[in-house]
Amino acid sequence: MGAEIINGKELSKSLKGKMKKEVSILKDKGLIPHLTVVLVGDNPASKSYVSGKEKASREVGISSEIIHLENSIAEKDLLEVIDKLNKDKNVHGILVQLPLPEHIQEQHVIEAINPAKDVDGFHPINIGRMMTGQDTFLPCTPYGIITMLKSKNIPMEGRHAVIIGRSNIVGKPIGQMLLNEHATVTYCHSRTPNLKEHTTKADILIVAIGKANVITADYIKEDTVVIDVGINRLDNGKLTGDVHFEEVERKAAYLTPVPRGVGPMTITMLLENTIKAAKGLTNID
Ligand code: NDP
Repeated sequence: MGAEIINGKELSKSLKGKMKKEVSILKDKGLIPHLTVVLVGDNPASKSYVSGKEKASREVGISSEIIHLENSIAEKDLLEVIDKLNKDKNVHGILVQLPLPEHIQEQHVIEAINPAKDVDGFHPINIGRMMTGQDTFLPCTPYGIITMLKSKNIPMEGRHAVIIGRSNIVGKPIGQMLLNEHATVTYCHSRTPNLKEHTTKADILIVAIGKANVITADYIKEDTVVIDVGINRLDNGKLTGDVHFEEVERKAAYLTPVPRGVGPMTITMLLENTIKAAKGLTNID
C-alpha cells in the first residue's frame, strides 16, 4: 500500500473557506485586516510569490497592497518606508519579500519591522517568543507543516523527528516547533556525515534542502511521515521536491507532494497570521 498523500492545496482551500467567514465577521464589526507587502527590485520568483500572496489575500477578503521599490533603493530609505508602515494604524501585517538586493542587510530590515506586525515571524523577538513557547506569529512554512500534520492527526509527541536543513526560515524553526509538540528532534545539514544513519531512524522526516529528488527510498524506514519542503525547477520546466516521490511513496506512511504540498500552506498561514495581527491577539509590544 502506498503512502497517504497530504494535499496542501485542498487543506489550504478548506482553511481559506473558514478564514473568509471570519474576515467577513470582522468586516461587519468595522475591522478590515490589511497586509502590506514590500517588494524590492524585479526578481521574477519574488514577483510571482508576491502576486500569489496578494491573490490569496483577496480570496479571503483581506485587503492587501504591494509597495514596489526600485532595486537601487538605499537601505535607509527602505527602513523609512517600514517605519511609516509601522506607524500606520490601518496596516496590520508587513511582509518584506526576501531576498533583498546585496547592498541591503536583510537582518536590519527584518529587525525594523514592528514585531506586532511581523506576519512572516522572522523578527528575533518573535523567534524568541516561539523558542520560549509564548504566543507569537509562527513562521509560515513550518506553521503550515505543523498544520498539515495536525490535519491528519499524526502524533508528534514522543516521535523522532529528523530535519534535513537548518535555514532560519524552515529548518531551524520547524525543529523548534516539533520540539514544542514534544517530539525528539535531530537536525541534519550539509556537514552531517552518514545522513542515512539519521534519516532511517526518523518517524517524521522533514526535508528542506533545495536539491531535486535526493531523498530516495533507502533514506527512510517503512511507515515514515515524509514532508517535502523543497521546490526545485527541473531543466524541462517542471517543479519537483527534494524527495523522490515515486520511490518514497511506496514506503512512507504519509507524503506531501510538490507542487500542491507545503507551498500553498505557506501562503495560507500568512493569511492566518495577518488576521491574527488585525485582531491584535498576540500581546506583542
Ligand atoms: P537553504 O538553502 O537556506 O538551506 C538548505 C539547507 O539544506 C542548509 O541547511 C544546508 O546545509 C542543507 N543541505 C544542503 N545540501 C545538503 C545535503 N546534501 N545534505 C544535507 N543537507 C544539505 O534553503 P531553505 O531552507 O530556504 O529552503 C529549502 C528548500 O525549501 C528550497 O528548495 C526552497 O525553495 C524550499 N522552500 C519552500 C517553501 C515552501 O513554501 N514550500 C518555503 C521556503 C523554502 P548547510 O546549512 O550546512 O549549508
